[in-house]
Amino acid sequence: MSQHPILSCSFDALAQTLAGSGRAKAIWSLLRNGQDPFQAPLGKKLTRALNQNLTAFDERVTTRHQSPCGTLKLGIALQDKLEVETVLIPMNGRTTVCISSQVGCARGCTFCSTGQMNLIRNLKAHEILFQVYAARRCIQESQDLPPFRNIVFMGMGEPLNNFEEVKKAITQMVHPLTFAIGAKRITLSTVGPSPSLIQKLKTLPTRIAWSIHAAEDTKRQRLVPTTKHSIAALTDAFADVLHRKKEGLFIELTLIDNVNDRDEDAHHLVTCLKRLPGESRVNLIPVNPTPGNSFAPPTPERIQSFRAILHEAGYFCSVRPSRGDEEAAACGQLITLRTQEGVLAQ
Ligand code: SF4
Repeated sequence: MSQHPILSCSFDALAQTLAGSGRAKAIWSLLRNGQDPFQAPLGKKLTRALNQNLTAFDERVTTRHQSPCGTLKLGIALQDKLEVETVLIPMNGRTTVCISSQVGCARGCTFCSTGQMNLIRNLKAHEILFQVYAARRCIQESQDLPPFRNIVFMGMGEPLNNFEEVKKAITQMVHPLTFAIGAKRITLSTVGPSPSLIQKLKTLPTRIAWSIHAAEDTKRQRLVPTTKHSIAALTDAFADVLHRKKEGLFIELTLIDNVNDRDEDAHHLVTCLKRLPGESRVNLIPVNPTPGNSFAPPTPERIQSFRAILHEAGYFCSVRPSRGDEEAAACGQLITLRTQEGVLAQ
């Protein structure tokens, strides 16, 4: 009889495999809280059914690094020894979990360490879900991490380039009998690889963030060199999706000294935002220094000037404080050491 990783089963498939939805509920009440059902006292019949039909986790948490600010970065080894990273960010009494969708990334953003790895492979849905399970386990075991609250697809990888597996994982996350996470507490952040991929967002229940990084084509080409579509074409695709979903867009912009932090850059962004329906909210992320480039964050005065232009145009605009950069857990810094050390060459 073939066995499947437990997190690869939908609730209905698990109920069928274990011959009862009550049994599937018992398993999920453990998984949801970060407990391993293969190590739990479940009774003889259920334990036998579990061991006969399903396999435990192929993934494991290999490293944990906590920054002084409390941000916790997990290194997660996959079955083939590649690694991804998951970051737990405590803020305002809640923990946000930043998860990865690929090992490496093909988009090649010039300020991003993951982009310098190139794409190694897509994650399977159960590998994405393991990150949620591992994060919940950490929170359960921790003395100082606040309760789980949000998920952001903002770790390693471009989620729209692994759409089918990401969609499967999200379906499992929001199912009321599995992880039971509210869809609006999940945000999928995308660089927007193409209008046709952006259109697929219509089928997801989550919030959407566009990592735009620059709203003028020449500058954006420099920061996201794989982009093949104009800002106007991508904006129109997002507008179409937002009309359907009847919601606003989160905009993420990595702000870099003397590259995309001028007043004229802010005005370009305002022009772009005016084409979008709903209430757009902008999050400015001063760049984190990474090996291999000389990008630096703007001065506080530059950031304030950029922000003021957006405020004056009527847009909510926040500046993300740097979290976890002491442990290379900050945005744009995720790169797995196993790849650096050459596991791929083995
Ligand atoms: S910023 Fe995001 S899309 Fe760009 S290379 Fe890094 S992981 Fe990929």
